[in-house]
Amino acid sequence: MPIDPIAVITIPAGINKGLTSPSNKTLLQILGMPRDVVTAECRGVTNQPLKSLITLDDVGPFRVTGIKPAVASLKRIFKLVKKDLPEVYAELGTAGMLCVRTIKNSSKLSNHSWGCAIDISIGGVLDGLGSTKLDGKTLAGLAAMAPYFNDEGWYWGVGFSKFEDGMHFEIAEETLRAWHADGTLGKKAGARTTTSTSLSKGDSGERVKEIQRALADKGYDIMTDGEFGPITEGIVIEFQSDNGLEPDGIVGPKTLKALLG
Ligand SMILES: [Zn+2]
Repeated sequence: MPIDPIAVITIPAGINKGLTSPSNKTLLQILGMPRDVVTAECRGVTNQPLKSLITLDDVGPFRVTGIKPAVASLKRIFKLVKKDLPEVYAELGTAGMLCVRTIKNSSKLSNHSWGCAIDISIGGVLDGLGSTKLDGKTLAGLAAMAPYFNDEGWYWGVGFSKFEDGMHFEIAEETLRAWHADGTLGKKAGARTTTSTSLSKGDSGERVKEIQRALADKGYDIMTDGEFGPITEGIVIEFQSDNGLEPDGIVGPKTLKALLG
């Protein structure tokens, strides 16, 4: 039975099962800093390796710019939506996917900053725009599409505790980690050149421990296990961006000086 895509309905139960919204920490660890300076103004990605993952493509109802596996996932989702929910598909629009910026009144980055979140309009309506209250309602068209997004590992923003962001869908933390583990996002360290004096992902030993201890002393949540893995790399990137250094995840002379004095 066709539905009225812009009818206001109660948010259905059972959405986002097994899916969580990815934290900035996870996104920084896996995809790195999108650009050196991030403000409240919407800007593009400048930093590798994220830049090499960004694509502009037609996903069916519109074109988007985002990371390749997320864009490919949208194509699959909208192909099914077109077939199963043509009345919803006909009303789809987007308010954007990739946009590197901070969240309003916060120093945190919006998840749109990594090109793995999308805002969707239905019949020109954006559910959640400027809304600060939890009214328990959303648009029928969004609710009808939510299972398709959940099946592909996207988290629906109506689940946010502070306000229901009904128009917003984002790649869930679990999906991001799976993509990272299976190589879908590429090898971050692959494109890098390191000097013998610098430390980066894959290194281990006493010098790595020394760096981890210095980061822990500065208040970063890090284990001093002597293994320079993806978590250490993410924290080095965080430290570098906190200290105006190039956030490349490599502990070279400048980062070492900032860390150890
Ligand atoms: Zn959004």
